[in-house]
Amino acid sequence: MNQGMNRRSFLGLGMTAGAAAMAPRWLKGEETHLPEMLAQARAAALTTPIQTTRLSENVYLLQGAGGNMVLQTGPDGAILIDSSFATAAPKVREAVAAVCKDAPHALINTHWHFDHTDGNDALHAAGFVIVAHQKTRDRLATPQAMKAFHATLPASPAGALPAVTFDRAMHLWHNGDSIDLVHVEPAHTDTDVYIRFHKADVLHLGDIWFNGMYPFIDEGTGGSIGGMIRAGEKALAVAGDNTKIVPGHGSLGSKSEFKKYHEMLVTIRDKVESLKTSGVSEAEAVAKKPTAEFDAAWGLGMMTGDEFAGVVYRTL
Ligand SMILES: [Zn+2]
Repeated sequence: MNQGMNRRSFLGLGMTAGAAAMAPRWLKGEETHLPEMLAQARAAALTTPIQTTRLSENVYLLQGAGGNMVLQTGPDGAILIDSSFATAAPKVREAVAAVCKDAPHALINTHWHFDHTDGNDALHAAGFVIVAHQKTRDRLATPQAMKAFHATLPASPAGALPAVTFDRAMHLWHNGDSIDLVHVEPAHTDTDVYIRFHKADVLHLGDIWFNGMYPFIDEGTGGSIGGMIRAGEKALAVAGDNTKIVPGHGSLGSKSEFKKYHEMLVTIRDKVESLKTSGVSEAEAVAKKPTAEFDAAWGLGMMTGDEFAGVVYRTL
């Protein structure tokens, strides 16, 4: 699997024959602008089905294009976490309607990235009030450079901006459950929050967790390996042995699976840190293959081992 196809799959783009041959400019490392990258992701999201998995009496996992979504249903109204791509909105609304007739209530964003927020405007128009960390609003309200994709995203429309924001934490008592929204210090980005449903025992970690693959760390908007590890420690402290943990990307997981991912991050951080401390350059550190023992298990997703080692080195 080449790097281009990995990035395509991360964005929810289909792995069609000839996809690599048609690799767009932004995958070839050339400067580009939003339309090409987002137009392709949006086109793919139009036809990507949404798979619904029941996690508790009234909490569901919705998986389609873009980041994993969680839905809580009940008489107080539906709460949705993350909004996928704009073009997925009709399918998201169908998926919600298939399990409940509840009025839209809140849409919570785990962080600012477009594969989690592009559907905000459409879902806001459908009646959801958007809730997020203050910096998610700040970033969506202004153009953002995405270094890894050599692209600049324009500001989002007014309807896509969170109407309710918080800095450190927020708590909701909703549909018989107690729900924590907690900001972690910059990890995947500087806008990350995790959402914990106490009674349902469900924890949505957003992109603090890429299950089964090296995580993308957005070093352009505050992400760092140290922050990912500290956020992971927080997640391990609040998760129980039976907690259903939802990653931003990949399959539903458990605390023991998250712990393996966390330990992998710690081991690679330690190896790269000792190389960096000894004075070797980024290229030399990457050439020493500090991720080698993990590549077969974790290097087949969005990032190769070498790419991940580079991000770790740069953000230490
Ligand atoms: Zn993200």
